[in-house]
Amino acid sequence: MIELSNIEKRFGEAVILKDISIRIPEGSVTALVGPSGGGKSTLLRCINLLEIPTSGAIRLGEETLSFAPDKRTSWQAIQKIRRQTGMVFQNFQLFPHQTAIENVMEGLVTVLKWPREKARERASELLTKVGMSHKTDAWPSTLSGGQQQRVAIARALAPSPRVLLCDEPTSALDPELSAEVVDVLGRLAREGTTMVMATHDLRLASKIANDVVFLEAGSVVETGSARAIFNAPERERTKRFISTIN
Ligand code: ATP
Ligand code: MG
Repeated sequence: MIELSNIEKRFGEAVILKDISIRIPEGSVTALVGPSGGGKSTLLRCINLLEIPTSGAIRLGEETLSFAPDKRTSWQAIQKIRRQTGMVFQNFQLFPHQTAIENVMEGLVTVLKWPREKARERASELLTKVGMSHKTDAWPSTLSGGQQQRVAIARALAPSPRVLLCDEPTSALDPELSAEVVDVLGRLAREGTTMVMATHDLRLASKIANDVVFLEAGSVVETGSARAIFNAPERERTKRFISTIN
């Protein structure tokens, strides 16, 4: 279970996230949707503490961390939460000077201090899982966007995080390449990978999400099962948003 309680994030005077409370059950996929600037990326970055919430609390498995404006969050506390998360970015962000398998091994070797051979075995399994075993030794620049994103997903999964965080994982890709990535994410979802995904792609969201959180101007407007929100949203605002996309 991941639990966000009363999360607020300010940048200076600007309140970017307002009193966000959501629960993400183990093994489920939650899609964060809503208009640009609503706070989806900021919320993801708060879950792995790339941004430190101004107040509120985050529970991730056994760890709970609470925040207050005058409270400093220790590096050790940040690491305890962050190590349970893996992040996938819109622009893949592979290390350009490393091959596909080296990208996937990197965190295992440098952060978790795994022996190289063990890390290579794990990385190789993950590349197979994302359908990239034929490109093990390829350089990122020689891969298509969809292939790069699949390597990035393998890299994020390498340390077996409790939750995979994806920020617009398909929006830099044209539809065909996007479909490859959706297939991989769908397979991971069916295997029970817990995911939180910010996306503009409502097809992606409706295909793999169990739950949807609609965020606008830093507040949760509506949450519910993906089926309920896509078929019969309760709030007028959610209805309008979904109808502009369809
Ligand atoms: P998009 O759909 O365009 O990706 P989003 O829902 O992911 O948007 P965020 O990127 O989280 O939205 O941005 C939410 C708001 O926070 C925006 O108004 C943005 O300008 C502001 N913001 C984000 N990061 C910072 C920062 N480091 N400093 C100040 N303001 C920021
Ligand atoms: Mg964003």
